[in-house]
Amino acid sequence: MFVEVTDTDGNTGLAELAGPAAATDIAQLTAEYAERLRLSPPDGEADVTAQLGLTVEELEADRPRATAVSALRTAIADGQARAAGVSLSEFLGGQRTESVQLYGNMNRSMLPDDNGPRDRSPEAFAAAAREAVRRGYKVVKCAPFDEARSPFEEPGLPEAARSGIDRIVAVREAIGPDIQLFVDCHSRFDLDSGIALEISLRDSNVAWYEEAVDGIEDPETMIKIRERATMDVAGAESGYGVELFRRIIEGGVMDVVMPDIKFCGGAGEAVQIGRALEPDAPGSVSMHSPSGPASQLASAHATAAFKGTRPLEHAWGEADWRPSVLEPVERIENGRIYIPEGPGLGASLNPATVEERGRRWAL
Ligand SMILES: [Mg+2]
Repeated sequence: MFVEVTDTDGNTGLAELAGPAAATDIAQLTAEYAERLRLSPPDGEADVTAQLGLTVEELEADRPRATAVSALRTAIADGQARAAGVSLSEFLGGQRTESVQLYGNMNRSMLPDDNGPRDRSPEAFAAAAREAVRRGYKVVKCAPFDEARSPFEEPGLPEAARSGIDRIVAVREAIGPDIQLFVDCHSRFDLDSGIALEISLRDSNVAWYEEAVDGIEDPETMIKIRERATMDVAGAESGYGVELFRRIIEGGVMDVVMPDIKFCGGAGEAVQIGRALEPDAPGSVSMHSPSGPASQLASAHATAAFKGTRPLEHAWGEADWRPSVLEPVERIENGRIYIPEGPGLGASLNPATVEERGRRWAL
């Protein structure tokens, strides 16, 4: 879903809306907030939550509200940047940037599609990893633990994690020693299994250990896993607001936080998070972005604006018509996203693609 916000001069800002509730509920909530802002306009994107009377505590605890606010703030920031005639990264305090480096998340290329379930064998993971390298990514991420889900009956490394480890071994073999490998565990483990799993990830030289547990819900367990880990521990993809991410890094919960432009408070908040944390902890912020082209592009502007030192996530290979959602079309080549030259995002929704592929409904 997309949100467009237009000012009285006709500048239209764009954002993606995707979230943790039924699409119509999120759309309804966003429309309600938009109407309140229309009647009582904020000074700018940073003023949206105050204007809606929402507190940080409410938004940390309520993901649908955080999602609606994030989309509106990103769309308004894009509109403001267009009105000012500058790129979104410049509007957010950075500089005009030609391109941003990406890492290749292969998960979406392996999801079930219209042709049914995909092959999830180690060989299929290896083939996807080779494709990621062919596409130019220097860092590859996978989420291989389909069969594992805590609690487990046995202590130590659970039997249910074995096939996931086989997939990781196959991926490492396919990409060779020089490509970095990130592994996402989708909060499927617990303290004991999370510590045991980290030790076996070392054998495949995994560089990034994401969400063994949900580090926002259970920071104490995450801290204990991180204390023993030899690789970077990452997560917090559903978090809202700079204060939460600051607590996570300053509290030693994780090495890397992953604010998502769709939930964290939007493009302006993502830049605040990067600016708050990166100077003292370089590499501590890497935006979560298993997103469509509008969020991908806004996340590239945000990463450029806070001078992120990590590559930005890109979930390649989900739909071959994806680039045509925007005009000019999304341009991702050799592991980099290229930022179009125009003001704001530099791209808008392509009405022909919306007509052909989209779905409309009335609230
Ligand atoms: Mg993840």
